[in-house]
Amino acid sequence: MGQTTRTTKLLLDFSGRSQGGANLGKREHLAILNAARRFYLDFFLAHPDKLTERVEVISKKTGEVREGVISADHLLTWAEFQTIETAEHPDPLPDWNFSKAFPDFPNRYRRSVIKDVIGKARGYLTTLLKWQSSGKKKGKPGIPTASNHPTLYAGTLTLELDELDMRKSFIRLKVYTRQAWMWVHYPTCYNRYFDRRRAEPGWETASPKLILSKQSAAIHFLQSKTITAKKIVESKRDPDLVTVAVDLNVKQLAVITVRQHRLIKETRFVPDHGLDQHRYQHLKRVAKKQWQAGKAVKGECSNQQLWAHVRRQHEDCAHKTARAIVEVCEKYPGCVLVFERLRKIKPTGGSKSRRLNRKKANQLKGKITQLAKEKAYAIGVVSVEVNPHGTSQYCARCGCKGVRFTYQAGQRVTGTGGKLFSCPACHYECHADFNASANVHHSFFREFHWQPRAQKSG
Ligand SMILES: [Zn+2]
Repeated sequence: MGQTTRTTKLLLDFSGRSQGGANLGKREHLAILNAARRFYLDFFLAHPDKLTERVEVISKKTGEVREGVISADHLLTWAEFQTIETAEHPDPLPDWNFSKAFPDFPNRYRRSVIKDVIGKARGYLTTLLKWQSSGKKKGKPGIPTASNHPTLYAGTLTLELDELDMRKSFIRLKVYTRQAWMWVHYPTCYNRYFDRRRAEPGWETASPKLILSKQSAAIHFLQSKTITAKKIVESKRDPDLVTVAVDLNVKQLAVITVRQHRLIKETRFVPDHGLDQHRYQHLKRVAKKQWQAGKAVKGECSNQQLWAHVRRQHEDCAHKTARAIVEVCEKYPGCVLVFERLRKIKPTGGSKSRRLNRKKANQLKGKITQLAKEKAYAIGVVSVEVNPHGTSQYCARCGCKGVRFTYQAGQRVTGTGGKLFSCPACHYECHADFNASANVHHSFFREFHWQPRAQKSG
């Protein structure tokens, strides 16, 4: 049993009015909650003892009573009691009268603000305590800042999505317009995937968050799902177990092989469609500009647009490759997804652009692994990382050490970097990446002599 989460984003449309977007004044309304957050942050930091108060906690599951830190809900009630004017409780602490400082502040927003702040203040106090006990001079934790992405609890937002006319999709938010709190319509960049993801069975939606960034604003819907999957150790005993192994490379981004009963049942190659070469051209330009400009100024970032372009390409590519891996897993319910543990590489040799390119390619591998694991877990497939030792050097058929070679003008040229693999013992020849992928299965089951015995299985 486990939990998995994902975010479904809905962008607010701040393009020009003529293109159906909101007017830009509406954007400012969204950034008003920081002042309230500042208020409560100061309030909690002035009462640090309450934050770390130990009280008796009754466990919900077992009903047993033990001592623990005061819960956020109790703190919230306590803070409201201290700062809010009500009919039964007309005089809150004189210095901390929230009702006077922020008249008509909607309750829902206030609660979301207080909860945000409790987490922040607690985190700050813990790191401060750690720093004080460590006795170090450096690294004093800074006072937490008030800005955060507000959580939109029910009562502060309504969705009005019109599927027929996408131009008419609005989101209603309760915001402060410098005079009063009122409901304001924000047009959204609605897309058909949004509804599909929200309505997918098994996913529970939590309160959405409003994420304001420099260029855009979006509502993030956090969804969670409970997953039931077998443990790897249990699955390994199953004789009919299907394993899906992935070998990540540069030109063939992923080579996916499916094995059952010691036979490879399916193979899928995910090519990079020239991404490596494309990225190399950009990095050449970056390297040249850096060389021309001399030593970089500390704290400044150069070639931002080029890097952003590369980053976006990677993001896209990683998602697509991960999706391809999960698509294969979907065909075999109850399978186990096997990855190689990532090798730590330190690119050496070649030009600066080449080294940069190697580095980026390795980062992409990490991204693909991470995304594929998350996406696979969401459909109940557990993944495991195995020792990468020797997977690309030994023969997947007989386990002897083989050689890499390639054909150039009809001539066989042996050497590392060749994209084909040949075994001198059993004369097996195949694509080197396919051989590596098949070896990942062997590594998982630890079938060959060259695999270290003392390996920790996942
Ligand atoms: Zn062989």
